Amino acid sequence: MPTRGDRHLRAVQLAKQLATLGARLKTIHFVTGIPPRQVQNLFFPDARSIPRGRAPDSAEWYHNANLIMRTDACLIGAKYRQLRDQGFTAGEALVFAYRAYQAVTMSPSRISLDRAFNLVSYIDGIWLASAPTLSVLTCPVCGCEFIAAVGTVASPSEACPFCKLLERFPVDHRIQASYPSRPTADMTDRQLGMLALFHKLSPDTGGDISAK
Ligand SMILES: [Zn+2]
Repeated sequence: MPTRGDRHLRAVQLAKQLATLGARLKTIHFVTGIPPRQVQNLFFPDARSIPRGRAPDSAEWYHNANLIMRTDACLIGAKYRQLRDQGFTAGEALVFAYRAYQAVTMSPSRISLDRAFNLVSYIDGIWLASAPTLSVLTCPVCGCEFIAAVGTVASPSEACPFCKLLERFPVDHRIQASYPSRPTADMTDRQLGMLALFHKLSPDTGGDISAK
């Protein structure tokens, strides 16, 4: 049985990881239970280094985001779901899924840790959400996992974000430039396969986008 000390130590370690990934005080408080002022004292001795600005709000963001942002969100959501199913705590799954996302996309990250926190809250019905409003589905066409509103049924006639991305990849330089040529992290195999496929389709780089 873990002692109170063990649990506290674990919470502080998680808080440090979240702070390193750019999480704001409130996010760290939600995930670890450590009061914001204590988080500040521990990890932001210089008040100027505290992340500022409006916190991302509402799960509606996903439905209105552009295709690249939605694909990024799916990479995080799918990895999070996978880790949760493997028995990781919500906080650990958030940190690991976000790191895996950073490893397969270009820096600076288009999705912030706070946005990822917001997304997985609505996937899991925890933290910011009292019930799940987003779910992770498997596309019957490409096999990728993607995020959709709860209650959505995956259908072959409805293209998922990865299907759309694949279709537009050969003609859209913004999409081509958005993903590195050799993703290395442990994203789900299917999603890694999709990203690899995009690069094979790249029309003028011989598959190596980084050569540009
Ligand atoms: Zn698909």
